[in-house]
Amino acid sequence: MRDLCADARLLSLNTATLGPQRSLADAVEGCLRHGIGGISPWRDKIAATGLEAAEKLIRRSGLIVTGVCRGGHFPAADADGRARALADNRRAVDEAATLGAACLVMVVGGLPPGSKDLPGARRQVEDGLAATLEYARTQGVRIAIEPLHPAYAADRACVNTLAQALDICDRLGEGIGVAVDAYHVWWDPDLAAQIARAGKAGRLFAYHVCDWLVPTQDILNDRGMMGDGVIDLRSLRGLMEDAGYDGFCEVEIFSAATWWPRPVDAILATMVARGRSCV
Ligand code: ZN
Repeated sequence: MRDLCADARLLSLNTATLGPQRSLADAVEGCLRHGIGGISPWRDKIAATGLEAAEKLIRRSGLIVTGVCRGGHFPAADADGRARALADNRRAVDEAATLGAACLVMVVGGLPPGSKDLPGARRQVEDGLAATLEYARTQGVRIAIEPLHPAYAADRACVNTLAQALDICDRLGEGIGVAVDAYHVWWDPDLAAQIARAGKAGRLFAYHVCDWLVPTQDILNDRGMMGDGVIDLRSLRGLMEDAGYDGFCEVEIFSAATWWPRPVDAILATMVARGRSCV
Protein backbone atom coordinates (compact mmCIF):
# COMPACT_ATOMS: atom_id res chain seq x y z
CA MET A 1 0.00 0.00 0.00
CA ARG A 2 1.07 3.55 -0.56
CA ASP A 3 2.36 5.55 2.38
CA LEU A 4 0.06 8.49 3.07
CA CYS A 5 2.04 9.56 6.14
CA ALA A 6 4.70 11.66 4.49
CA ASP A 7 2.45 14.40 3.19
CA ALA A 8 -1.11 15.20 2.22
CA ARG A 9 -0.59 15.35 -1.53
CA LEU A 10 -2.67 12.24 -2.15
CA LEU A 11 -5.63 13.70 -0.28
CA SER A 12 -8.28 15.58 -2.19
CA LEU A 13 -10.77 17.97 -0.63
CA ASN A 14 -14.36 17.52 -1.73
CA THR A 15 -15.83 20.99 -1.21
CA ALA A 16 -18.83 19.54 0.66
CA THR A 17 -16.48 18.91 3.59
CA LEU A 18 -16.16 22.61 4.42
CA GLY A 19 -19.92 23.18 4.51
CA PRO A 20 -22.32 25.24 2.43
CA GLN A 21 -21.10 28.61 3.71
CA ARG A 22 -17.59 28.27 2.23
CA SER A 23 -16.60 29.32 -1.30
CA LEU A 24 -14.46 27.57 -3.87
CA ALA A 25 -11.71 30.09 -3.10
CA ASP A 26 -11.91 29.15 0.61
CA ALA A 27 -11.44 25.51 -0.39
CA VAL A 28 -8.55 26.16 -2.81
CA GLU A 29 -6.69 28.40 -0.39
CA GLY A 30 -7.23 25.92 2.43
CA CYS A 31 -5.79 23.08 0.33
CA LEU A 32 -2.69 25.14 -0.40
CA ARG A 33 -2.19 26.05 3.27
CA HIS A 34 -2.43 22.39 4.32
CA GLY A 35 -0.50 20.73 1.50
CA ILE A 36 -3.57 18.92 0.14
CA GLY A 37 -3.00 17.93 -3.48
CA GLY A 38 -6.46 17.61 -4.98
CA ILE A 39 -9.86 19.24 -5.04
CA SER A 40 -13.31 18.09 -6.07
CA PRO A 41 -15.76 20.95 -6.44
CA TRP A 42 -19.53 20.73 -6.27
CA ARG A 43 -21.30 22.50 -9.09
CA ASP A 44 -22.99 25.08 -6.85
CA LYS A 45 -19.52 26.27 -5.82
CA ILE A 46 -18.43 26.40 -9.47
CA ALA A 47 -21.56 28.38 -10.37
CA ALA A 48 -21.10 30.82 -7.49
CA THR A 49 -17.53 31.52 -8.65
CA GLY A 50 -18.26 31.44 -12.37
CA LEU A 51 -16.86 28.65 -14.54
CA GLU A 52 -14.03 30.65 -16.11
CA ALA A 53 -12.98 32.17 -12.81
CA ALA A 54 -13.13 28.73 -11.18
CA GLU A 55 -10.95 27.27 -13.92
CA LYS A 56 -8.36 30.04 -13.46
CA LEU A 57 -8.41 29.77 -9.69
CA ILE A 58 -7.80 26.03 -9.75
CA ARG A 59 -5.25 26.07 -12.58
CA ARG A 60 -3.15 28.71 -10.81
CA SER A 61 -3.29 26.68 -7.59
CA GLY A 62 -1.79 23.59 -9.23
CA LEU A 63 -4.41 21.39 -7.55
CA ILE A 64 -5.54 18.25 -9.37
CA VAL A 65 -9.30 18.13 -9.97
CA THR A 66 -10.24 14.62 -8.85
CA GLY A 67 -13.88 15.00 -9.79
CA VAL A 68 -16.80 17.33 -10.35
CA CYS A 69 -19.87 16.70 -8.20
CA ARG A 70 -22.27 16.02 -9.65
CA GLY A 71 -24.33 15.01 -12.66
CA GLY A 72 -27.25 12.61 -12.60
CA HIS A 73 -30.79 12.90 -11.23
CA PHE A 74 -32.12 11.46 -14.47
CA PRO A 75 -35.56 10.01 -13.61
CA ALA A 76 -38.44 12.43 -14.11
CA ALA A 77 -42.21 12.21 -14.28
CA ASP A 78 -42.47 13.30 -17.92
CA ALA A 79 -40.52 13.82 -21.14
CA ASP A 80 -39.91 17.52 -20.39
CA GLY A 81 -38.35 16.65 -17.07
CA ARG A 82 -36.15 14.01 -18.66
CA ALA A 83 -35.02 16.47 -21.33
CA ARG A 84 -34.18 19.08 -18.69
CA ALA A 85 -32.11 16.50 -16.82
CA LEU A 86 -30.20 15.56 -19.97
CA ALA A 87 -29.51 19.23 -20.76
CA ASP A 88 -28.23 19.80 -17.23
CA ASN A 89 -25.99 16.76 -17.53
CA ARG A 90 -24.49 18.11 -20.74
CA ARG A 91 -23.64 21.32 -18.87
CA ALA A 92 -22.06 19.22 -16.11
CA VAL A 93 -19.93 17.46 -18.73
CA ASP A 94 -18.85 20.84 -20.10
CA GLU A 95 -17.89 22.04 -16.63
CA ALA A 96 -15.87 18.87 -15.96
CA ALA A 97 -14.12 19.29 -19.33
CA THR A 98 -13.30 22.95 -18.65
CA LEU A 99 -11.82 22.10 -15.25
CA GLY A 100 -9.90 19.09 -16.59
CA ALA A 101 -11.57 16.89 -13.98
CA ALA A 102 -10.58 13.24 -13.62
CA CYS A 103 -14.28 12.37 -13.81
CA LEU A 104 -17.82 13.67 -13.56
CA VAL A 105 -19.45 12.00 -10.56
CA MET A 106 -23.00 10.78 -11.10
CA VAL A 107 -25.60 10.70 -8.34
CA VAL A 108 -28.12 9.11 -10.63
CA GLY A 109 -31.45 10.04 -9.03
CA GLY A 110 -34.28 8.14 -7.40
CA LEU A 111 -38.02 7.84 -7.91
CA PRO A 112 -39.83 10.67 -9.68
CA PRO A 113 -42.35 12.43 -7.38
CA GLY A 114 -45.41 10.23 -6.83
CA SER A 115 -43.88 7.17 -8.49
CA LYS A 116 -43.41 3.70 -7.02
CA ASP A 117 -41.86 2.31 -10.18
CA LEU A 118 -38.30 1.54 -9.10
CA PRO A 119 -37.45 -0.67 -12.13
CA GLY A 120 -38.74 2.16 -14.35
CA ALA A 121 -36.55 4.71 -12.55
CA ARG A 122 -33.57 2.43 -13.02
CA ARG A 123 -34.31 2.16 -16.75
CA GLN A 124 -34.46 5.97 -16.96
CA VAL A 125 -31.12 6.16 -15.18
CA GLU A 126 -29.47 3.85 -17.66
CA ASP A 127 -30.95 5.69 -20.63
CA GLY A 128 -29.78 9.01 -19.18
CA LEU A 129 -26.30 7.68 -18.50
CA ALA A 130 -26.07 6.28 -22.03
CA ALA A 131 -27.03 9.61 -23.60
CA THR A 132 -24.70 11.61 -21.35
CA LEU A 133 -21.84 9.18 -21.90
CA GLU A 134 -22.15 9.58 -25.65
CA TYR A 135 -21.68 13.34 -25.25
CA ALA A 136 -18.99 12.97 -22.57
CA ARG A 137 -16.88 10.82 -24.90
CA THR A 138 -16.80 13.65 -27.43
CA GLN A 139 -15.55 16.02 -24.70
CA GLY A 140 -12.96 13.64 -23.21
CA VAL A 141 -14.80 13.43 -19.88
CA ARG A 142 -15.05 10.19 -17.90
CA ILE A 143 -18.33 9.38 -16.16
CA ALA A 144 -18.17 7.89 -12.65
CA ILE A 145 -21.34 6.30 -11.27
CA GLU A 146 -21.44 6.66 -7.50
CA PRO A 147 -23.61 3.93 -5.99
CA LEU A 148 -25.30 5.34 -2.89
CA HIS A 149 -26.33 3.51 0.28
CA PRO A 150 -29.79 1.92 -0.21
CA ALA A 151 -31.29 4.43 2.25
CA TYR A 152 -31.10 6.93 -0.62
CA ALA A 153 -32.84 4.78 -3.25
CA ALA A 154 -36.05 6.80 -3.17
CA ASP A 155 -34.74 10.33 -3.36
CA ARG A 156 -31.11 10.41 -4.49
CA ALA A 157 -29.86 7.31 -6.26
CA CYS A 158 -31.47 4.04 -7.25
CA VAL A 159 -28.06 2.57 -8.11
CA ASN A 160 -27.09 1.18 -4.73
CA THR A 161 -24.30 -1.36 -5.07
CA LEU A 162 -21.03 -1.56 -6.91
CA ALA A 163 -22.26 -4.71 -8.68
CA GLN A 164 -25.31 -2.86 -10.01
CA ALA A 165 -23.16 0.07 -11.15
CA LEU A 166 -20.61 -2.20 -12.81
CA ASP A 167 -23.33 -4.12 -14.64
CA ILE A 168 -24.44 -0.79 -16.13
CA CYS A 169 -20.83 0.05 -17.02
CA ASP A 170 -20.45 -3.32 -18.76
CA ARG A 171 -23.54 -2.63 -20.86
CA LEU A 172 -22.49 0.93 -21.76
CA GLY A 173 -18.83 0.30 -22.62
CA GLU A 174 -15.85 2.65 -22.57
CA GLY A 175 -15.53 5.91 -20.67
CA ILE A 176 -17.71 5.01 -17.71
CA GLY A 177 -16.67 3.68 -14.30
CA VAL A 178 -17.39 4.05 -10.61
CA ALA A 179 -16.73 6.39 -7.72
CA VAL A 180 -16.29 4.18 -4.67
CA ASP A 181 -17.46 6.07 -1.58
CA ALA A 182 -16.63 4.34 1.70
CA TYR A 183 -19.77 5.71 3.36
CA HIS A 184 -22.03 4.14 0.76
CA VAL A 185 -20.41 0.76 0.16
CA TRP A 186 -18.62 -0.31 3.35
CA TRP A 187 -21.49 -2.62 4.44
CA ASP A 188 -21.63 -4.60 1.17
CA PRO A 189 -20.69 -8.29 1.67
CA ASP A 190 -19.62 -8.40 -1.98
CA LEU A 191 -17.36 -5.35 -1.70
CA ALA A 192 -13.94 -6.99 -2.13
CA ALA A 193 -15.01 -8.96 -5.20
CA GLN A 194 -16.67 -5.96 -6.83
CA ILE A 195 -13.69 -3.65 -6.24
CA ALA A 196 -11.46 -6.30 -7.81
CA ARG A 197 -13.89 -6.60 -10.72
CA ALA A 198 -13.89 -2.82 -11.22
CA GLY A 199 -10.12 -2.69 -11.12
CA LYS A 200 -9.76 -5.46 -13.68
CA ALA A 201 -12.07 -3.57 -16.03
CA GLY A 202 -10.23 -0.27 -15.50
CA ARG A 203 -13.28 1.34 -13.93
CA LEU A 204 -12.02 2.66 -10.57
CA PHE A 205 -12.24 6.39 -11.27
CA ALA A 206 -12.55 7.89 -7.76
CA TYR A 207 -12.35 6.98 -4.08
CA HIS A 208 -14.26 8.99 -1.46
CA VAL A 209 -13.70 8.67 2.28
CA CYS A 210 -15.39 9.68 5.49
CA ASP A 211 -16.70 7.45 8.30
CA TRP A 212 -19.95 5.82 9.47
CA LEU A 213 -20.89 7.04 12.94
CA VAL A 214 -22.75 4.88 15.45
CA PRO A 215 -25.38 6.03 15.96
CA THR A 216 -25.86 8.08 12.80
CA GLN A 217 -28.20 10.98 13.64
CA ASP A 218 -28.94 12.03 10.05
CA ILE A 219 -28.34 9.81 7.05
CA LEU A 220 -27.38 12.76 4.83
CA ASN A 221 -25.61 15.26 7.04
CA ASP A 222 -24.08 13.31 9.92
CA ARG A 223 -21.09 11.67 8.30
CA GLY A 224 -17.99 11.17 10.38
CA MET A 225 -14.40 12.31 10.11
CA MET A 226 -12.15 9.37 9.23
CA GLY A 227 -11.37 7.44 12.39
CA ASP A 228 -14.48 8.50 14.31
CA GLY A 229 -16.68 5.65 13.05
CA VAL A 230 -16.69 1.95 12.22
CA ILE A 231 -15.37 1.74 8.66
CA ASP A 232 -12.04 -0.09 8.32
CA LEU A 233 -10.69 2.54 5.95
CA ARG A 234 -7.16 1.16 5.87
CA SER A 235 -8.43 -2.22 4.66
CA LEU A 236 -10.74 -0.58 2.14
CA ARG A 237 -7.88 1.45 0.65
CA GLY A 238 -5.92 -1.79 0.52
CA LEU A 239 -8.67 -3.36 -1.61
CA MET A 240 -8.66 -0.33 -3.90
CA GLU A 241 -4.90 -0.30 -4.33
CA ASP A 242 -4.70 -4.09 -4.78
CA ALA A 243 -7.18 -3.60 -7.61
CA GLY A 244 -4.87 -1.05 -9.23
CA TYR A 245 -6.29 2.23 -7.97
CA ASP A 246 -3.51 4.82 -7.75
CA GLY A 247 -5.56 8.00 -7.48
CA PHE A 248 -6.46 10.30 -4.63
CA CYS A 249 -8.34 9.71 -1.39
CA GLU A 250 -11.06 12.31 -1.67
CA VAL A 251 -12.45 13.45 1.67
CA GLU A 252 -16.18 14.11 1.49
CA ILE A 253 -17.84 14.79 4.84
CA PHE A 254 -21.39 16.09 5.11
CA SER A 255 -21.52 17.08 8.77
CA ALA A 256 -23.96 19.85 9.62
CA ALA A 257 -23.65 19.63 13.41
CA THR A 258 -20.06 18.55 14.02
CA TRP A 259 -17.67 19.75 11.32
CA TRP A 260 -19.28 22.47 9.19
CA PRO A 261 -19.51 24.96 12.10
CA ARG A 262 -15.76 24.71 12.73
CA PRO A 263 -13.11 27.01 11.21
CA VAL A 264 -11.73 25.89 7.83
CA ASP A 265 -8.23 25.38 9.21
CA ALA A 266 -9.51 23.21 12.06
CA ILE A 267 -11.38 20.96 9.61
CA LEU A 268 -8.44 20.69 7.23
CA ALA A 269 -5.82 20.11 9.93
CA THR A 270 -7.91 17.25 11.30
CA MET A 271 -8.49 15.88 7.81
CA VAL A 272 -4.75 15.82 7.13
CA ALA A 273 -3.93 14.24 10.51
CA ARG A 274 -6.60 11.57 10.04
CA GLY A 275 -5.41 11.03 6.49
CA ARG A 276 -2.12 9.94 8.03
CA SER A 277 -3.48 7.83 10.85
CA CYS A 278 -6.76 6.37 9.58
CA VAL A 279 -7.05 6.34 5.78
ZN1 ZN B 1 -19.05 10.54 -2.52
